Amino acid sequence: MPLTPFHLGYPLIAGLVARSWFSIPAAMMGSVILDLEPLFRILSGMETSHGQFHSFALAAVVGLVLGIIVWLLRKRLDSATKLFGVKQKTTAKSAFTGALFGTFSHVTLDILMHSPESGFRAFWPFSDATFFEQWAPFWMHAVSAVVLLVAVALYVIVVARENKQ
Ligand SMILES: [Zn+2]
Repeated sequence: MPLTPFHLGYPLIAGLVARSWFSIPAAMMGSVILDLEPLFRILSGMETSHGQFHSFALAAVVGLVLGIIVWLLRKRLDSATKLFGVKQKTTAKSAFTGALFGTFSHVTLDILMHSPESGFRAFWPFSDATFFEQWAPFWMHAVSAVVLLVAVALYVIVVARENKQ
């Protein structure tokens, strides 16, 4: 997605609703980390903005590596989420499913958003199929904006509930 923050609503909802399954920091980092690729490619003047990292194959690899990092940093991340008013104990399961949910949700959302000219190939190296439609970016942004608002509202409710005496 050209505007990366639109990816953040989905992992935040997943993490708040199913906390034992999805580490919130893992899922949120996973949902935006793949956009380092277009940033790097644009800054280094490459011909297309998207490459292999925007595929399910490399999203799986990135998700696994991120899962390991989150697992290693779990104590620090648990205290960081606590600072944001949410209590969550990161387990190996939530680190990996969270990170993989993040990276896979990123590629899934991008499928309708990016034209073949941008280099986006979700099914690389198995297929060059693309599913870009002219109408899609507007609606994907609209839906993702609503999801982000719902996620923020849910976060406020959860924090208010958990932190009242
Ligand atoms: Zn992207």
